[in-house]
Amino acid sequence: MTTIAVENPATGRVIGTVPDLSADHVADAARRARAAQPAWAALGFDGRAQVLRRMQRWIVDHTDELIATICAETGKTYEDALLAEVSYGAAAFGFWAKQAPRYLAETRIRSSQPLVAGKRLVQRYRPLGLVGVIGPWNYPLTNSFGDCIPALAAGNAVLLKPSEITPLTSLLLAEGLAACGLPDGVFGVVTGRGETGAALVDEVDMVMFTGSTATGRRVAARAAERLIPASLELGGKDPMIVLADADLERAATHAAYYAMFNCGQTCISIERCYVEEPVYAEFVELVSAKVDALRQGVPQGPGSVDVGSLTFPPQVDVIDRHVSEALAAGAQALTGGVRPERPGYWYPPTVLVDVDHSMAIMREETFGPTLPIMAVRDADEAVRLANDSEYGLCASVFGRDLARAEDVARRLEAGAVTVNDAVVNYTALELPMGGAKPASGIGRRHGREGIVKYCRQQSLLVSRWHLRHDVHTYPYRAARSRFLARVLGVLNRGRRTT
Ligand code: NDP
Repeated sequence: MTTIAVENPATGRVIGTVPDLSADHVADAARRARAAQPAWAALGFDGRAQVLRRMQRWIVDHTDELIATICAETGKTYEDALLAEVSYGAAAFGFWAKQAPRYLAETRIRSSQPLVAGKRLVQRYRPLGLVGVIGPWNYPLTNSFGDCIPALAAGNAVLLKPSEITPLTSLLLAEGLAACGLPDGVFGVVTGRGETGAALVDEVDMVMFTGSTATGRRVAARAAERLIPASLELGGKDPMIVLADADLERAATHAAYYAMFNCGQTCISIERCYVEEPVYAEFVELVSAKVDALRQGVPQGPGSVDVGSLTFPPQVDVIDRHVSEALAAGAQALTGGVRPERPGYWYPPTVLVDVDHSMAIMREETFGPTLPIMAVRDADEAVRLANDSEYGLCASVFGRDLARAEDVARRLEAGAVTVNDAVVNYTALELPMGGAKPASGIGRRHGREGIVKYCRQQSLLVSRWHLRHDVHTYPYRAARSRFLARVLGVLNRGRRTT
């Protein structure tokens, strides 16, 4: 079997190898998972919650090992791994263990239709069977493995295809699930490249995909051929709007942090910024001072650096192209802006001004530590430019007049908008999250929709057995139709005379 070498992107050193699984291997894993799923579903919410809660504990107990693995295969800092990955995983296991029974509870439905009067109508949810999760490299725990948790809580078997760049975290978490008593076969990790992901789509009952818009299209097309549902979390070009009355210190701190954390490789990081003219110069000065002070380097443990390396080698070329083209077209770099020569994959935190909407850096997903800032006349111009994008994942608005800031937020075409804040909406697992425009995805993660999508729905109608005949069956059908004809006749006469 061929293997894939996994590199530490901060140093360029190989840290492990994983199998590059073929379509036959994926089919085998799918057969095992399907065989194991009914017993897992039969455990019910309480039985499954026991395993999920043990896994929550396991994550807490194995924090150091998880952080070391995540940092080694992504190049991200200790804090980025702890705050945005490990703590998410621990919270998510507890959340779905607790909320799955509530979100998937059978619902009694009331109907105004006389034909179903006196009957019991129920909506219920059953697991789909086998769910395939395909994930990206930027958050191997949160965005890849994280989507498996509600799928498992709903009673499905799950096969996860992590990015070929960052498969080690998923394999470690699979060990954790086994140690916590998850029955053999219910969860599997199929490592490999794009072809392995494509083969997975051919085997499962539903696919949850997080990744680029281009691959999302291919996954959706393949799922459509099989008529299986696909939930897609795709790219973003999230705008930040700073209104003239904003607390500039707060806005600048958020801009510097949420544009640069995880080295800018977050689908909902701040990718572009629009500032009302009167406060533009002061805001730019504050942000560039904060970004300039960031320490970037190889992560060596807690507090060692503020920004790590890039994770995906080709991403450095994308960032460099966006910045170089912008500089050639008249933009200025206030910090960063030059690709360094050093082992591993690096780009420095970069603040750009004198940018406009003809530049790729304002239109395409850069997915790097860059913040282009543009002055706007007023809020209307900011809203127009923010919405001038194929993407619509998240957005943020800063302003002291909350009514005005919220009004601006409601005019933005984004799946989630924060006011005087950014990105933390993702940590509220009760709050659905997903794209408002197709290029940012279809479907939601988190909240009720984040687990209902892993279920097939069944509507039940239960009639009492002792009522021999209903008005809609033969003995009464003729009488009922005469009655209805008379009612319609009366209604029509009434209409003609008015
Ligand atoms: P890709 O689209 O390149 O890859 C995503 C996953 O799909 C990887 O596991 C990849 O495997 C796999 N894959 C590749 N080709 C196929 C195929 N034909 N069929 C099935 N699977 C396939 O995305 P990236 O890994 O580059 O992730 C970065 C992107 O993810 C960014 O655009 C970002 O915006 C987006 N993202 C969106 C989020 C959201 O919530 N909306 C969250 C996080 C990221 P392999 O890597 O082995 O090629």
